[in-house]
Amino acid sequence: MCGSCGCSEHDHLSSPERTALEVKERILSANDRQAEVNRQLFNRAGVLAVNLISSPGAGKTFLLEKTAEWTGGRLRIGVIEGDLETDTDAERLRSVGVPAYQITTGQACHLDAFMVYEGIQHLPLEDLDLLFIENVGNLVCPAGYDLGAHLNVVLLSTTEGEDKPAKYPVAFRCADMMLVTKWDLLPYTDFDFRKAAALALRVNPKLRILKVSSKTGEGFPEWVSSLEEKGSEVWRG
Ligand code: MG
Ligand code: ZN
Repeated sequence: MCGSCGCSEHDHLSSPERTALEVKERILSANDRQAEVNRQLFNRAGVLAVNLISSPGAGKTFLLEKTAEWTGGRLRIGVIEGDLETDTDAERLRSVGVPAYQITTGQACHLDAFMVYEGIQHLPLEDLDLLFIENVGNLVCPAGYDLGAHLNVVLLSTTEGEDKPAKYPVAFRCADMMLVTKWDLLPYTDFDFRKAAALALRVNPKLRILKVSSKTGEGFPEWVSSLEEKGSEVWRG
């Protein structure tokens, strides 16, 4: 985990700890201001911005490839990719015709609003309908950073433990939607969907839950229509 995300904030702080906490609060409020700037840029350009959060390997990039396929010809998609080191995910998306800009975060295990702002400069925002921000694969700190997105989506795959909403409640509490990915693999796993859904709804009763398979396309009509539903608020402006 990175220094800026911090861990638990103790009641009895020594003065160096107190200083560290003050620094963290300053970073967060600067981030929130930048997130607001990003949000205004998205609104002005008429772009729906969607922040994707998950553990590594939950299928974020595959979801985006397939989403581009399912919306092809109707919605113009761009992607900001966050990864620690490599730019293979952006390359993968560009190879299927999706404009994608890679941010390699180095040490930082999350994207912040400033990194997203930098990414925006490299994409044809005015020509897009949808901008996906694929966050760094991590369920911990990405949830603590407002990026200016209109929609926060958390992915949980059937190959993971269904108790993740209980273990990482903040990521699920901050999300508007949860996608249960790799639904086609369900018969080969011990994943208990009802338990996962119940745990997620316990931390966030308003969470909308969809089952999707990027492989078979199951759940994509619902996923795409929920994007269009949310997008209509931004696009008509
Ligand atoms: Mg990826
Ligand atoms: Zn982090």
